[in-house]
Amino acid sequence: MSRFVYLDHSATTPVDQRVIDAMMPFFAPDFGNPNSLHAWGRKARQAVDKARNQVAQLINADPAEIIFTGGGSEADNLAIKGVAFAKKDKGRHIITSAIEHHAVLDTCNWLAKEGFDITVLPVDEYGMVRPDELERAIRPDTILVSIHFANNEIGTIEPIEKIGNICRSHGVLFHSDAVQAAGHIPIDVKNLPVDLMTMAAHKMYGPKGVGALYIKKGVKVIPLIHGGGQERGLRSGTENTAGIVGFGEAAALAAERLAKGEMKKETRLRDKLIDGVLKNIPDVILTGHRTARLPFHASFCFRYIEGESMLLRLDALGIGASSGSACTSGSLEPSHVLLAIGLPHEVAHGSLRLTLGKDTSDEDIDYVLENLPKVVESLRAMSPYGKRG
Ligand SMILES: *Cc1c(COP(=O)(O)O)cnc(C)c1O
Repeated sequence: MSRFVYLDHSATTPVDQRVIDAMMPFFAPDFGNPNSLHAWGRKARQAVDKARNQVAQLINADPAEIIFTGGGSEADNLAIKGVAFAKKDKGRHIITSAIEHHAVLDTCNWLAKEGFDITVLPVDEYGMVRPDELERAIRPDTILVSIHFANNEIGTIEPIEKIGNICRSHGVLFHSDAVQAAGHIPIDVKNLPVDLMTMAAHKMYGPKGVGALYIKKGVKVIPLIHGGGQERGLRSGTENTAGIVGFGEAAALAAERLAKGEMKKETRLRDKLIDGVLKNIPDVILTGHRTARLPFHASFCFRYIEGESMLLRLDALGIGASSGSACTSGSLEPSHVLLAIGLPHEVAHGSLRLTLGKDTSDEDIDYVLENLPKVVESLRAMSPYGKRG
């Protein structure tokens, strides 16, 4: 029996058919420019407004606090560079963590060349930022802390409330990249001390190339893109109407799933997968936290094998997985995340990430649990690192 089992939802999700249906009219016939005053324009404007409400509702923000961007990376750039340049006369120190997405880390590295001072906090063995270490790192010239909500490679959910409270008590702005978390775990920005938060549609069954930055009322950000003044002047350019409508629909559907507690099914399947792998395969470790982790996320390191060779074997069996993050695969350096949680290079090379989706079934997980042990065993038998001998 052969199946196709997509277990790479942290890389991207399929677009929900209801999202596609919502988007289609905005290519044609409702193709108007939302900035035009005629009927075509008004229709598009109404659709963008509705989507802004839907995305705002997902995280309990006010619609005016949502800025649509061209994806998660752009929203991260806007948050970090935007605050850095808005606040550079008050201070030039920014704090982040060692396991952020490259959209955050590389932005900080770029700012370092522009005269900003970056502190990269280490994390513990589960990938958690230690709040006391964060507090010690804050200086009088600290203007921003950027710590992600949850990690894409190891699934760990950070202690966001503690981190945010520390930032608040020191008068420092707090940005969180919530691309992996938004739409998958409940987030309420009215009850969480976050000032800026990144989201991306394509990680919650929406289209690629559209994201949003939540900017708390009163927080000042300098735009990266200048022009026609769209998105309150923070992101000029004619709105990606269809993409934004798709994001709105995806956010509304995610809110519905969260309200119905549908993530419990994912969590159960995730645990079945994790328990099955740990029980049936020797010399494997779970990466990330066992419980403080995304409901759809399982990640491991298998000793004595290469992650890439596992991916190829799984792919041949119809299983789509990933090793480290999609952006770093193809490079020979092991993932910065796995090294930061203290894994030796040779162990980090054997990483495998299996991320479930809303339509993943028990049969899918059974299929993986039936095949993965065989794949691991056969690769180990021919491994140059050799378990044997
Ligand atoms: C996918 C991802 C991004 C980048 O989002 P894009 O929409 O692909 O630019 C940023 N941060 C995290 C944590 C991600 O998982």
